[in-house]
Amino acid sequence: MTFALKTFGCRLNRAESARFEAALSAAGLEQVPFGEAADVVIIHTCAVTATAENECLRMIRSMRTKYPSALLAVSGCAVDAAPPERLAAMGVDLALSREERETLPDRILEKLGLPRLTAPIPPRSTAHRALLKIQDGCSFFCTYCIVPHTRGQPRSVPFGQCLDEAAAFLDAGYREIVVTGCNIACYADQGRRLPELIAALSALPGMGRIRIGSLEPGMNEAALIRRMAEDPRVCDFLHLPIQSGDDAVLRRMGRHYTVDALRRTLDLACEQVPRLGLGADLITGFPGETDAAFEATRALVSAYPFSNLHVFPYSERPGTPAAGFDGVVPVAERKRRAAELIRLREEKRVAFARSFIGREVTVLIEKITPDGNAHGWTAEYLPCTCAGFSPDTLGTLRTVTVRRAEGEELQG
Ligand code: SF4
Repeated sequence: MTFALKTFGCRLNRAESARFEAALSAAGLEQVPFGEAADVVIIHTCAVTATAENECLRMIRSMRTKYPSALLAVSGCAVDAAPPERLAAMGVDLALSREERETLPDRILEKLGLPRLTAPIPPRSTAHRALLKIQDGCSFFCTYCIVPHTRGQPRSVPFGQCLDEAAAFLDAGYREIVVTGCNIACYADQGRRLPELIAALSALPGMGRIRIGSLEPGMNEAALIRRMAEDPRVCDFLHLPIQSGDDAVLRRMGRHYTVDALRRTLDLACEQVPRLGLGADLITGFPGETDAAFEATRALVSAYPFSNLHVFPYSERPGTPAAGFDGVVPVAERKRRAAELIRLREEKRVAFARSFIGREVTVLIEKITPDGNAHGWTAEYLPCTCAGFSPDTLGTLRTVTVRRAEGEELQG
């Protein structure tokens, strides 16, 4: 029996898909590349924007047409965003809502008439970085976001289970653990929060390095910045979905922080962790974003050494309050503002890369190309190509001296 799996959307979805793959493989199913004929076709969907959701629905229709006899299973946010009848009408055999998501492998085995798995399956990851899911759900209800509706209330994976799963990743040879979730800043288990979890993960024997995923501002970033400064196993990388540099826009977005508070966090980060890889998500053209409000965002971005900006022109997500807001910014203007920030991003990223010339960086080797070069990522999340590593260094952490930078890519 074979299965093929396609994952749309965020890192959290990828972490969940890795668990599905591990469980189905342990049950004896063979994974084949997505798009090839398979007995089971799984689509793990995303509904963060209407465009993403429509793309998933198109894929479901296309797989149903192409493989009419395959068992077609669908999970993820598009299941929770849509009425169940819609997926049934498309010929989906199994649609798993958020409450049932974890049971996807068992439900598939049941449909195939195969025995369920009885023992827990060690986690695995398809890449050299292991995605550790510590949390799901969000209750912040930002006015543009559908996620609280699709993923539900925050739930944290028990502290001990997070450590056990991370230890299993380390035993399996992974050297970078990426801590991920829907809103990891909300992590809480019996009074223990994200900073305590990161400290405990760091103390695990064999830990290479820990990368903290996207972190909601206004929660516990000060403690995490201090840990980054003190603990060489915690990557110097902070990604904040700041979205806007204007207080009125942040209020309309339903965000939980002010620009002043953001600046204090950014000042602390830059002071405590020199050459910090600093990332941000930004939305341009949110309803009510005036020229002056956009200028405030541009000024905030200019003022700090961001090395990784994800810029999105605002797009209405049906079912969210913001989709009905007044003050709509024309789509062309949303895109123009995004393009302006993207230009800034390129300049900043190149300048950040150049600041490493002559310095040592730690690279997780993720690929060796036929020309003998090794490729990987630094703790600060810059790509690095380096010569002189053999294939048996794949998946290991190596110290590399940076000789030059070509664009954003380090050469060592
Ligand atoms: S914090 Fe806001 S943007 Fe992030 S998942 Fe929760 S509601 Fe959505």
